[in-house]
Amino acid sequence: MINFIQQEIENDLKEGKYKNGILTRFPPEPNGYLHIGHAKSVCLNFGLANFNNGFCNLRFDDTNPTKEDIEYVDSIQEDIKWLGFDWGERKFFASDYFGKFYEYAVELIKRGLAYVDDLSAEEIKNYRGTLTEGGKESPCRNRSIEENLDLFERMKAGEFADGEKVLRAKIDMASPNINMRDPVIYRITRSHHHHTGDEWLIYPMYDFAHPLEDAIEGISHSICTLEFEDHRPFYDWLLDSLGFDINSRPRQIEFARLDLTNTITSKRKLRQLVEEKHVRGWDDPRMPTLSGLRRRGFTPAAIRDFCERIGVAKSNSLVDIAMLEHCVREDLNQNADRVMAVLNPLKVVLTNVTETEYLLAENHPARGGNRYVPFTREIFIEREDFMEDAPKKFFRLKPGGEVRLKYAYIIKCEEVIKDSEGNVVELHCTIDPTSKSGGATAGRKIKGTIHWVSAQHALKAEVRLYDYLLTTDEKGNLPEDFIGALNPKSLIVIENALIEPSVKLTAAGTHFQFLRLGYFVTDPDTTPEKLVFNRVVSLKDTWQKVRD
Ligand code: ATP
Ligand code: MG
Repeated sequence: MINFIQQEIENDLKEGKYKNGILTRFPPEPNGYLHIGHAKSVCLNFGLANFNNGFCNLRFDDTNPTKEDIEYVDSIQEDIKWLGFDWGERKFFASDYFGKFYEYAVELIKRGLAYVDDLSAEEIKNYRGTLTEGGKESPCRNRSIEENLDLFERMKAGEFADGEKVLRAKIDMASPNINMRDPVIYRITRSHHHHTGDEWLIYPMYDFAHPLEDAIEGISHSICTLEFEDHRPFYDWLLDSLGFDINSRPRQIEFARLDLTNTITSKRKLRQLVEEKHVRGWDDPRMPTLSGLRRRGFTPAAIRDFCERIGVAKSNSLVDIAMLEHCVREDLNQNADRVMAVLNPLKVVLTNVTETEYLLAENHPARGGNRYVPFTREIFIEREDFMEDAPKKFFRLKPGGEVRLKYAYIIKCEEVIKDSEGNVVELHCTIDPTSKSGGATAGRKIKGTIHWVSAQHALKAEVRLYDYLLTTDEKGNLPEDFIGALNPKSLIVIENALIEPSVKLTAAGTHFQFLRLGYFVTDPDTTPEKLVFNRVVSLKDTWQKVRD
């Protein structure tokens, strides 16, 4: 693992810091499901810990009671395990530290570094100043330590209404960094917390709680996304002010968040898609959530590979989603068995076939393995593989033309049957009986090979084809009104696809390559009566093109 964060860790170790070893953490707020952006952070934090023989804590950053829920706590754990990482016994809840946060706040007051403010939220905002102008000090700023201790305790005891008072750090209202202008560190809010119930009426702000969570757990390197760079001075100020040793206290390092083309990586927007029912749920296969990607058939190995390849940088950039799809294809190409399926069936009667025959078919070009597929007088081919007025370069089936059926015979189209409206409903073909593997004319050169299934043996299946929820502009930016811009064709359901019979009794989450069509996975909606497949990705890899 070579990235700039690893370099920093090595420098710290060389300087004799962090004698207790390397400890990172992944700190999700349980207010939504994890998405592909979080996967980058999971891979990075667990990866750095493993590489340095250290550990990574899973810490639920649950200090904001209003939007959090136990459903998310459960899903987050499931998703991290699925990605292939293990926190062992190291699962923590920031809300378990509420008592300690309170004590640290009291300590700050005692050191003259925090005060209770009566200004309203609106007034605090107005006093804060701008990027170019310093802020104004609150009239409450110079309260005595005794008065602050008393007021803070009464905030905790519930003597004041929500929002009536706050606790602020006392730093510098003239600081060029707005985050250092006496930030609010505690507020009053009578909200039920999913972990601590109604025990607390005051809650710490994120910027105050996070460094303390890290310090309490003994984290060495606290890795976060770039937008926290301006918050680092407060992170350091707080830990220094409370007397944590510079050689062992946590150090914040920022990296560029993952942004992907065609992909929403805002939990708030993802929640909106779910709540307004634009998708079927958090695990809808079109969602970039890990549960959605899992249902879609993306594999943990492919996602880890992707996170490794995109690397870790110090400036934000947009990654093409084609690269993630490329990683998925590489994995499935190696690991998915090949089978035949027809999505848009056209019946073909092979007039010189009278008996069912079982033909040997290869399961995988590299891993090998074989199965027998039934070959019968009536088969189905893909409607698109036949063309009545075919151009010269059309090497599939046309009237009077020949094509090879995969694993079987060369067939010739003798007759096209149409309904009263002129639609092609059936083809009558003959086989060249000596053209199958091992036969006298097996080597006969035929340009096209198509897939097929036996009409009598094929299994019915529902197949769900997906496209991006959002299309992007040339620069890869998502549209402003993302709900209005949702792709109406992001899901196409094919009710009556046909699959070769070997796929019977397949557990949900089993991958296949449908020859010539793409990679598919069985959906959890599959029942003993009906197979349901999701298309994971098509076979066409556009990543090469993007790279060139
Ligand atoms: P919120 O706005 O709710 O805080 P969030 O996406 O930051 O949303 P968190 O639960 O706070 O969600 O994220 C957990 C961890 O994952 C954080 O350390 C965060 O920096 C990291 N993370 C979140 N989104 C991305 C992303 N797109 N790329 C890389 N890391 C991310
Ligand atoms: Mg966050």
